[in-house]
Amino acid sequence: MVKAECDSEENRYVEFLRTKGHPDAVVFLNNLYEYLTIRAAEVLDPPIIKALSDAEAANDPDLFIDIFMSTKSKAEITTGNFLYHRWIRMLTLARYSHAERNIIESIPIAFIPFYPVLEAFITRTPYGSIICFTHALNAVLLHVFMTLAKSIRFQHYTPKKPQLAADAAVDQIIALARYLIGGCREEELPPKLDLEDHVVNIADRINNITQTFILAHEYNHFLMGHLKNTRQGSGIVTHGAFKHMESYHTDLQQEIEADELAVRLLKKSNQTPDGIQHNAELCGGVFALFLFVAICKKLLGFGTDVSRDHRIVKIYESAFDDNDHTVIMKELNILMGALDKI
Ligand SMILES: [Zn+2]
Repeated sequence: MVKAECDSEENRYVEFLRTKGHPDAVVFLNNLYEYLTIRAAEVLDPPIIKALSDAEAANDPDLFIDIFMSTKSKAEITTGNFLYHRWIRMLTLARYSHAERNIIESIPIAFIPFYPVLEAFITRTPYGSIICFTHALNAVLLHVFMTLAKSIRFQHYTPKKPQLAADAAVDQIIALARYLIGGCREEELPPKLDLEDHVVNIADRINNITQTFILAHEYNHFLMGHLKNTRQGSGIVTHGAFKHMESYHTDLQQEIEADELAVRLLKKSNQTPDGIQHNAELCGGVFALFLFVAICKKLLGFGTDVSRDHRIVKIYESAFDDNDHTVIMKELNILMGALDKI
């Protein structure tokens, strides 16, 4: 999307929220889903919207993504992300039992544009709970995975262009972290990598499974009753973004419980090559997310001893709870390298 388009979309968004009573966080969240739905109906043709809703009602994620991909070029960032997460929602819900699904499937999944915090969160409102993904999470995480995928030494492909050297990949990751903590300003986005189709495919697969993990984690907070004692609208940062990172912090034990259940639900049997590959992508994506958050925190001056980070240690244990069959991408060393370098 060109800058002028982006600016006019931001103006519309701000104006919409102003008429709905923004900056009150709870009012804002109650109206966000409505905004996204109206926006999607304006951007895409009505028959497309109907076909997507029908695919969703029929629980057919393959059909949904086919329709979405055929119309993706028309969708701007906000609508593209909103629809993408409706697809991730379908993939995630399929992992839960019928009883659990009945409890969580009515929770709306929203996307917050122009919001530079690397988080998804679930929060209560007077009209029920809502799960929000943020612009920062979507804009940056896929670039992290593309950087890692570009650094893989492929054995089954003959790369047409030189792959990214580890040093250059480390610098790219640090640049992405600086872009994020600087508030995702367009002019600070590091140069785009030149990507072959198979590299994009790998990055997409890791991104999809990681977004599924993030959503399952949020659903698990709801299922495990973690929201009971939180105030309405908590989780939203209305000003200052990263300055409030520490106050953003929720109960560590609850975070670990939600992570562990998400990994348990999403892991596949390691008995088949498909299962081994799926689990490698799942674990690689989740570790990359946590390590990237640690890099951002270090840049902001927070402590970052990852070997003592209980969340990372626990996720490592749940990834390996079926002995040695889970493979960890060695390219995650690039993130460790970035963490050391800053
Ligand atoms: Zn959480």
